[in-house]
Amino acid sequence: MKKFALAGNPNCGKTTLFNSLTGSTAHVGNWPGVTVDKKEGVYKKCDEPISIIDLPGIYSLSPYTPEEVISRNYILDEKPDCIINIIDATNLERNLYLTTQIMEIDVPMIIALNMMDAVEKNGDKIDVKKLEEKIGLPVVEISALKEKGLDELMQRAYEVCKQGREGSTVLAGTQLMHLIRDCKIALEGQKVENSLFHAIKLVELDEIEVEMHPDSAKMVEEFKQTFEDDTFGSDFEAIVADSRYKHISKNYSTVVVKNKKSASERLTRSDKADRVLTHKIWGIPIFLLILFAIFHLTFSENFLFIGYGLPEDWVSLEGTVAEGLFGEGGINSPGVLLQGILGLATDSLTDAIRGAMEGGAVAEWATGFICDGILGGLFAVLSFLPQILLLFLFFSILEDSGYMARVAFILDRIFRKFGLSGRAFMPMIMGFGCSVPAMINTRTLADQNERTATLRVIPFFSCGAKLPILTAIAGGIATLFGFGNADLITYGMYLLGIVVAICCVLLMRNTTMKGDVPPFIMELPSYHAPQFKNLMLHLWDKTKHFIKKAFTIILASTIVIWFISHFSWGWNYLPDEAMNESILAGIGNLIRPLFTPLGFGSQLSSYGWVFVVAAITGLIAKENVIATFGTLAACITSGMFVADEGLEGIDSVVEMISATGITPAALISFIAFNMLTIPCFAAVATAKAESPSKKSFRMTLLFWIAVSYVVSMMVYLIGSWWWTLFIFLVLWGGIITLIVLNNKGIIDLKAFFAKFNFLRRKKKV
Ligand code: GDP
Ligand code: MG
Repeated sequence: MKKFALAGNPNCGKTTLFNSLTGSTAHVGNWPGVTVDKKEGVYKKCDEPISIIDLPGIYSLSPYTPEEVISRNYILDEKPDCIINIIDATNLERNLYLTTQIMEIDVPMIIALNMMDAVEKNGDKIDVKKLEEKIGLPVVEISALKEKGLDELMQRAYEVCKQGREGSTVLAGTQLMHLIRDCKIALEGQKVENSLFHAIKLVELDEIEVEMHPDSAKMVEEFKQTFEDDTFGSDFEAIVADSRYKHISKNYSTVVVKNKKSASERLTRSDKADRVLTHKIWGIPIFLLILFAIFHLTFSENFLFIGYGLPEDWVSLEGTVAEGLFGEGGINSPGVLLQGILGLATDSLTDAIRGAMEGGAVAEWATGFICDGILGGLFAVLSFLPQILLLFLFFSILEDSGYMARVAFILDRIFRKFGLSGRAFMPMIMGFGCSVPAMINTRTLADQNERTATLRVIPFFSCGAKLPILTAIAGGIATLFGFGNADLITYGMYLLGIVVAICCVLLMRNTTMKGDVPPFIMELPSYHAPQFKNLMLHLWDKTKHFIKKAFTIILASTIVIWFISHFSWGWNYLPDEAMNESILAGIGNLIRPLFTPLGFGSQLSSYGWVFVVAAITGLIAKENVIATFGTLAACITSGMFVADEGLEGIDSVVEMISATGITPAALISFIAFNMLTIPCFAAVATAKAESPSKKSFRMTLLFWIAVSYVVSMMVYLIGSWWWTLFIFLVLWGGIITLIVLNNKGIIDLKAFFAKFNFLRRKKKV
């Protein structure tokens, strides 16, 4: 099959085009660095099917970050049959800089002038004929978003790919051309492919090239001694870059005819927005306010804080559909409202199935298995889908509008103090959705230690799968202990995760993960209204992912959980009441003591093992924590309590709390533990793949265990006995002092620990 690669600057619309051509649903976002790995799809409308490859965005073919290396290597090594160079037509000259480099490779190439819809809307004009003539490559105008010109593009690309192409360069008239030609001849002698491209990179003394061709590099170094340019001295990289820019502005500035009035108008509008949104002082409070608004819209049971003034009888709508409109404190936010509606539906479904099964001649255990085991577990998790989707929708809107890239920019100043660049904000915020893409996105970070530190704290940004744990337990606490606002506890836990992440980064960047913070270079994308199609695509993707997970991993887990909680070691069926003698209870009780310092271990009454068990099932998928509660709570209720109806997330937590006698402090500690400990299977596998070494990965696992244990213990102890706060303060104060003193060179911790090693080794001998 023929392979066409999509290459271009970040944020020029490559993934949008890829999705339109192949019908895929790859992630599109309005900020540079969304695609960090190559993706493949198939285009079927040509004479033969064509494989399309979406590459991470690059500004040049001299890479700095891992994701840029992927693109360069693909273009050079995999030999695509055609490169479709996508250019953001609203930014023609800057985008052409990369084009002048790709041109130098011996590969068929075509230029796709994207975002023509935006160009037309601005009233600008581009002289495509002139561009084509000057650059010597076919140019096709398209709009990936509006799906215009795509077939023509593919048709021309298909024609182009059948002819070969020899690289050409815009450096032909410059002083360095002699040297380039000599290098090219030398490389051709060694049978190197793409000799022109490699020769130019060698002259630039590109690190990768110098390593690959040391002989020719020596030749360049020698020539360098004899060379002196008036502006750049003998910095060949700068001379080459300058020549490219000069060529572009000389030849292509007349290709675009700007509508002057609209250009200045547009500038001022986005300038005005940026003056407020990226303000030195107000930028961050505004972001926090937006964040709060998002969480409020998703979780609040007292929407807009108007609830307390409501007349009594407004709230007495129990049993009707309108009941879901009102929460504990007042009117429910859209998130809680949708959750309530879905809850009503799943409740009646469970009731109907249970009624039918009890009416028919079905064995009692089978009814239990279906209604409690499977439906109890699945619906407990499913009830949180509306909130997960809503949260995701809001983040997608912020992302697609171009605001998130600004936040990365304003946070850079603060992040720098913690030893990170603002770049690290993007993977972190993605972590609120799912840790897996977030961890992969750390590839945009150039410094390896910064990358590792960021990767380790990403799970602390509570993902969608952890959301049910947070809200269900917060709801349980509020219901049973009359403890303030459920949504306040939820925000608090999100905040705890962020604070712990900051502390850990601070600690790592000052001890094991030291390194310079690279300068923050990120082009701010233009603001635009969020694309409806894009948003729906995101939501659909998330829903699909969730449903798939629910009917595979979570379903399988709940089935296993139900069986091993209803059979004894001797494989005898146990009724609900005898669950404490089950295999699951046995396992849970065995490891329970480990969690006593965290508040959900041995101190709980007979059903206390459920917390430990739930936490362990969470290692497979975090939704399992609440699914396990759902499955088990349904059994506990039908055994000990009167109710025998379907249980949604919060209700099952309420049952668990009353059945185990767990305290609020221990519940918060339980949330913290699940939030901070080893994430789900998929995230662990990703962390392993993205880690620089096996050792680093093992340290990451250890780090998660240690952080979750220590923080949960602190939460439990301080929550139960507030004065223990002082013990922890002294302890942390001591550790931080030691590190500070060590970094200032006043004491030497390394030598101190080395002494220990020495003793140990001696003993062994
Ligand atoms: P990539 O980084 O090159 O993969 O770019 P994306 O495909 O993620 O798109 C970046 C942004 O540009 C998104 O917000 C898209 O909605 C927007 N975009 C892509 N193509 C077009 C287009 O043809 N017209 C307009 N107006 N916007 C586009
Ligand atoms: Mg992309």
